[in-house]
Amino acid sequence: MVTGVLYGDAVDYKVRLDRAVTGARQAGIDALLITPGADLRYLIGYDAVPLERLTCLVLGVDSAPLLLVPELERLAAEASHATTAGITVQTWSETDDPFSIIAAQLGNVQQLALDDRMWAVKALAFQRAFPTCTFAPAGTVINRLRMHKSPDEVAALRDAGAAIDTVHARVPSLLAPGRTERDVAADIGELILESGHVRVDFIIVASGPNAASPHHEVSDRRIEVGDVIVVDIGGTMPSGYRSDCTRTYSVGRPDTQFLEWYEVLQAAQAAGVAAVQPGVTCESLDAVPRQTLATAGIADLFIHRTGHGIGLETHEEPYLVSGNELRVEPGMTFSVEPGFYAEGRFGARIEDIVVCTDDGVEALNTRPHELIEVN
Ligand code: ZN
Ligand code: ZN
Ligand code: ZN
Repeated sequence: MVTGVLYGDAVDYKVRLDRAVTGARQAGIDALLITPGADLRYLIGYDAVPLERLTCLVLGVDSAPLLLVPELERLAAEASHATTAGITVQTWSETDDPFSIIAAQLGNVQQLALDDRMWAVKALAFQRAFPTCTFAPAGTVINRLRMHKSPDEVAALRDAGAAIDTVHARVPSLLAPGRTERDVAADIGELILESGHVRVDFIIVASGPNAASPHHEVSDRRIEVGDVIVVDIGGTMPSGYRSDCTRTYSVGRPDTQFLEWYEVLQAAQAAGVAAVQPGVTCESLDAVPRQTLATAGIADLFIHRTGHGIGLETHEEPYLVSGNELRVEPGMTFSVEPGFYAEGRFGARIEDIVVCTDDGVEALNTRPHELIEVN
């Protein structure tokens, strides 16, 4: 059992808000409009559920920050860190038009940035409420902030990593011939919650030929002797930070070709992790495991990017992908997850979350990488 750090109370949300407003000003944006989701939680610690009524943090570069919420959500909003961060909580009632309330509040603005995950109906309503404005995604300002994790955020992700590792430690006991992927996933779901997560985000149990599909979830396929099984699982901790870890198992002895390639994959993943240090580009980190896989002629069986950032969302910046020239900096957290996928036969993936440190790298998942054979 891993306990979540008391994350929210330790955060200086005022600093985050200041940085967001400064970033907006530098980008020529007059206001950021942030709706429920990871950005809102990041900026003011408000874990609101996205619903049809508008909840919106209005961060104007020339006006005081405002959180506009439906009347019935006022108490929940005030219980967040919005008020301690110095934000006025204003309510709208059922017959008001919240979009025109915000338009009146902001007055004469030209350039607005909308939350990357804002529902289209709300984005379109904002376009109608500000007919002369141009719009940009708020991620151009906020993703950069979220990408750099503070030591507290890294600690929260370390907790998440330790929690999911305890689940992987028990996966071998769940695998047996005759059990379906769905049976195994149901047990894993319970273990994810027992391990300290408050939510199960995803469970991939990909057995036999299903392992050749990287985002296969689960099916009613029964595990057979000789199967390879890719298990990729993750959840959300009380802090809001997430886990994501893949290990590959087998029931009985798998194909000899598979075993040969799996050894190469292990070397490829280790090389990918070892290459992480401040200053290297995301695309160079994407390339490292590919080069190792190429020595065995299986680089073309690795059909996805090497990794993705992780934090309050499972997939966020930075992305380790060809073409991304962004340089890695201390405090960035991301997955290193090469795999190989042979259609109709088998597949494998090894995934750890890592953090770039001042002089190298720390892995936040520490389970062994060897193929774990269950007999
Ligand atoms: Zn994925
Ligand atoms: Zn991942
Ligand atoms: Zn994963």
